[in-house]
Amino acid sequence: MTVTPASRDLLAIRGGLPVRKTLLPYGHQSIDEADIQAVVATLRSDWLTTGPRIAEFEEAFAARTGARHAVSFSSGTAALHAAAFTAGLKAGGEAITSPLTFVATANCVLYQQAVPVFADVSPDTLNLDPEQAAAHITPRTRAILPVDYAGHPADLTPILDLAERHGLVVIEDASHALGAEYKGRQVGSVAHMTVFSFHPVKHITTGEGGMVTTDNPKFAETLRRFRNHGISSEARQRQSAGQWHYEMVLLGFNYRLTDIACALGIQQLKKLEANLWRRRQIAARYTAAFREIPEVVAPAVRHDVNPAWHFYPIRLDRVQLKADRGQVFTALRAENIGVNVHYIPVHHHPYYRERFGNRGGEFPVAEDAYERLISLPMFHGMSDQDVEDVIRAVEKVVSHFRDAV
Ligand SMILES: *Cc1c(COP(=O)(O)O)cnc(C)c1O
Repeated sequence: MTVTPASRDLLAIRGGLPVRKTLLPYGHQSIDEADIQAVVATLRSDWLTTGPRIAEFEEAFAARTGARHAVSFSSGTAALHAAAFTAGLKAGGEAITSPLTFVATANCVLYQQAVPVFADVSPDTLNLDPEQAAAHITPRTRAILPVDYAGHPADLTPILDLAERHGLVVIEDASHALGAEYKGRQVGSVAHMTVFSFHPVKHITTGEGGMVTTDNPKFAETLRRFRNHGISSEARQRQSAGQWHYEMVLLGFNYRLTDIACALGIQQLKKLEANLWRRRQIAARYTAAFREIPEVVAPAVRHDVNPAWHFYPIRLDRVQLKADRGQVFTALRAENIGVNVHYIPVHHHPYYRERFGNRGGEFPVAEDAYERLISLPMFHGMSDQDVEDVIRAVEKVVSHFRDAV
């Protein structure tokens, strides 16, 4: 096919030339030789799991987030489950959370036989709206689970005030927000417990993995027990003390992270600053470019935060477009831009609909956002050309669907 200006302007879904030859994913891990060497060295050592790399990773993580304690888990979901248990969630209890999140945030409440109660999000950040959360507090409420959507910290001050007044525990789902700052403080040192994920699309990866940070020593102890069958001291401590005796004091799980994974996590954490710097640079470039496209609403950033940018969520202005989000999404994918949608509101999923009788329409801000959201690629390893390809594809597709007035 000859490349004529016309074939370049024609949308790829209509047979035109795509902006890129290969698909750009929305997120991707960065693994270097130091990461590989660290994992190999652990494979050659005596400890494949629950050895020295665990404490080393946890201490480095606590230092980076400014928390007193960091407790590692086999996934972010396991970390959420442990935090829900530690907060005292059980049958008859409720936890208030955002509907605009990954299902794991709400599922961890169900694991404890408690009920997730959704409250709508703020229109600018799409984070849990503290006033909506307040309106859903009942005598059964035990916890509030704000989510740092796309890496923009939730508005923790009013949420912590609410918790204080009602005796609740705040569990922040910061799976998107490692390295973000709220009012000059590191995410991980503000809420009662903060949960992180190390899935490969997140800021740092251990393959699968998660962490809970807390300043509360009782919480830290319960979290450690919960991840190890509810046993009150770990095998390594027993071995070094020359003891065989152990006690199971609560019903826990095997949610341990391996030394192999922690060896990778320690190396990954060293590169977090460069990773954050690059993500913030990409976000600034996107935001400057989309200022020129009126149909694209760039994500808001409040004055008192520094987001970590897990992904870059744009909202389409449907009034000015003669296409819906689905058509724009499909057109961008055809241009080889690996766009995504975060998230299908949790209460829309069949399981939640059937169990709780949600019909849709309950949370108008989250639901309206969902209809218009598209997540653009955002990761450390994106080249400047990748970033420009995304911008060019958005311009191409949006101008095609522009409603001529
Ligand atoms: C990734 C993610 C989780 C779950 O983390 P896993 O490590 O995949 O179990 C939970 N909540 C949110 C908002 C996430 O993005």
